[in-house]
Amino acid sequence: MSPVEYVSGEQNGPQRIDIENITNANKCDFCSAQCCSYITQQVDTPTTMQEFDVLLWQIAHKNIHVFKDGNGWYLLSMTRCTQLLDDNRCGIYDTRPLICREHTTSACEFDVPIDQGCDMYFQHYAEFDAYCRKRFKTWDKRIEKFEAARAKEAAKEAYKK
Ligand code: SF4
Ligand code: SF4
Repeated sequence: MSPVEYVSGEQNGPQRIDIENITNANKCDFCSAQCCSYITQQVDTPTTMQEFDVLLWQIAHKNIHVFKDGNGWYLLSMTRCTQLLDDNRCGIYDTRPLICREHTTSACEFDVPIDQGCDMYFQHYAEFDAYCRKRFKTWDKRIEKFEAARAKEAAKEAYKK
């Protein structure tokens, strides 16, 4: 699996980091606001081929990832918060949403990238397609089956006319 790609802000140049000087209190100074660079949304646990096919369609879109952890399955959208300032600080810090207030610097994304600590993490269409192929022996046949059923339905409709 390739390392997860964060979308950087316009002004984020490379930074020199002395690891020994980083603490929970100052680590945001060295970070490109990784925790403000994506959103997640839990989805119903997929079980059928059709449900996995929907996730495959979703991950086919730019910056959409899929992961599963101990709590279930999630869609992840790699998109930076519009309230981030060019220096990676929050532009609405005093009125930021509750979920941002709950987030702490201890064991945050700076220490553990989001693709680590999940049971499974899929960043690209091909990775997820390969997983589905392994999970369902008839994965590739689903399209054939779908088209055959549709042709049958169309033939039935044509016969009625
Ligand atoms: S809380 Fe962690 S991930 Fe978020 S900006 Fe600070 S160091 Fe980066
Ligand atoms: S509102 Fe502020 S703290 Fe919350 S995600 Fe956006 S920039 Fe980050």
